[in-house]
Amino acid sequence: MTIGVWVLGDQLWAGQSALESCLQKHQQTPVIFIESLAHAGQLPYHLQKLVLVWSAMRHFAAELRSLGFPVTYAQSQDFNTPLLQWIEQYQITELRVMTPTDRPFARLIQKLNLTIQVTFTPNNRFIWSDQEFIDWASGRKRLIMEDFYRQGRKRFNILMSGNQPVGGRWNFDKQNRKPPKGKLTLPEALWFEPDSITQDVIDFIKQSEAFQDNQSYWLLEPFRWGVTRQQALLVLKFFIETRLSSFGPYQDAMVTGEQTMWHAMLSPYLNIGLLHPLEVVQAAQLAYLDNSSDWELNSIEGFIRQVLGWREYMHGVYVYLDDDYSERNWFNHTHPLPAFYWTGDTQMNCLHQILTQVKQIGYAHHIQRLMVLNNFALIAGISPQELEDWFHAAFIDAYDWVMQTNVIGMGQFADGGMIASKPYAASANYINNMSDYCKNCAYNHRQRSTDNACPFNFFYWDFLARHYDLLKNQPRMTQILRNLERLSPSELQKIRSLASNWHTTQAATVGQGNA
Ligand code: FAD
Ligand code: SF4
Repeated sequence: MTIGVWVLGDQLWAGQSALESCLQKHQQTPVIFIESLAHAGQLPYHLQKLVLVWSAMRHFAAELRSLGFPVTYAQSQDFNTPLLQWIEQYQITELRVMTPTDRPFARLIQKLNLTIQVTFTPNNRFIWSDQEFIDWASGRKRLIMEDFYRQGRKRFNILMSGNQPVGGRWNFDKQNRKPPKGKLTLPEALWFEPDSITQDVIDFIKQSEAFQDNQSYWLLEPFRWGVTRQQALLVLKFFIETRLSSFGPYQDAMVTGEQTMWHAMLSPYLNIGLLHPLEVVQAAQLAYLDNSSDWELNSIEGFIRQVLGWREYMHGVYVYLDDDYSERNWFNHTHPLPAFYWTGDTQMNCLHQILTQVKQIGYAHHIQRLMVLNNFALIAGISPQELEDWFHAAFIDAYDWVMQTNVIGMGQFADGGMIASKPYAASANYINNMSDYCKNCAYNHRQRSTDNACPFNFFYWDFLARHYDLLKNQPRMTQILRNLERLSPSELQKIRSLASNWHTTQAATVGQGNA
């Protein structure tokens, strides 16, 4: 009997369960990696994401070879052809794969119709296993992130003093919403030069016919992301030493030209297995314990909440959800995604700045994603599914598990409130308060019904008016709807016609990207 292990592109560490189960016999365990061009062509993915994943796969394959594993590295249109050749070459009788995190990929493997036994080993990429989350969630009326997070803090003994949270409080969110006023001294980011393996991938993509369309949307170079576990560990160390102690206060702030602020830039590495979330949380806790007399707890708690709380929760909810979740559309939003999401070519400065940054590096931080890119689509009534496809294509850290919960659930409220307790809809007031974008915009952030009114304003009020009947049953919307009721009928009518005209103009300029 010969066991062979197939390592997927988001399972790149030696401790993953399929490899771990064969470590004792590594010299007799054939391992395969496959770059499928058809799979990479399913969406017009950001070119830097393709480089990140393929270069990281090639580096990890080399690492396994140096450990003595017989490694096959294939590039092919499909997955089936190289798999069958490899099974034949090594006379493999059992294919072992760690359970894919993304459900569509698990289904793809099941449909491959291989004639040998296929064994899925339990996925150990997250802090909570799938079953542990299901046990936590079962029987609860609502899946509240705060409850889950507190349970995680206790269970893994993170920032705990006995049974109580360190500092006497679980949550410091209120201290972590400072607007970026005055002169801020922002930290540097840690980037890397491509080595010869990465350069080979870049050259391949540059000359490949298959990715010509992607090149009209995304920049391939300069590519500066890390591609090995060693580099990912350096980014973690750099974050802890230079950013973590100030992570909290300006977590929600946005500044023109500042791509990453105090954010960790760890999601691309966490999401392909170069880092494990528990080691990230423990490293942050350790640094805090070493520096607790100087470091503010709100920053450390704010960061740990993201990884031990939000990231684990979003993954757990994905595991727990029905298969049709990605099709949800509670508001029945059907407008097509505006072309400027692909080109960045819009006079709305906030969107223009962030979309340009996404084009350059495939990354934007959480509030840029949630309160600008997502918020605009929500209030303008864009199809959640079109928006999800765009996020999936555009972001360097995007995968099915993290798209569905963040875009369909948290961002678009398309599940009717399973994940978020109210829609993340906001007017220009929020963006102006939390950024400097409005200062240099063609639109007026104070106007909502004049010709020069900011589209975030007229769409915000139009959204509330359009969905009044649905929203009035949401307890956290009561006060907001009262503000809507105070608008005069004539102003509301003007607002609604601005919104409707915007869509008409948009439809007439599809493909020109000049909204
Ligand atoms: P930091 O702000 O420094 O946070 C630290 C870590 O916390 C992140 O690396 C991430 O691993 C984790 N985290 C925080 N919030 C979330 C969350 N809601 N879901 C999952 N992980 C979280 N995250 C992705 O990993 N991939 C995506 O494609 C993605 N798309 C998003 C789309 C929308 C509309 C929204 C609202 C959020 C999305 N997120 C996504 C979550 C979050 O915005 C990113 O994880 C974060 O911005 C990554 O940058 P960072 O590593 O600098 O994060
Ligand atoms: Fe964005 Fe409106 Fe501000 Fe312009 S005025 S930057 S469109 S929020």
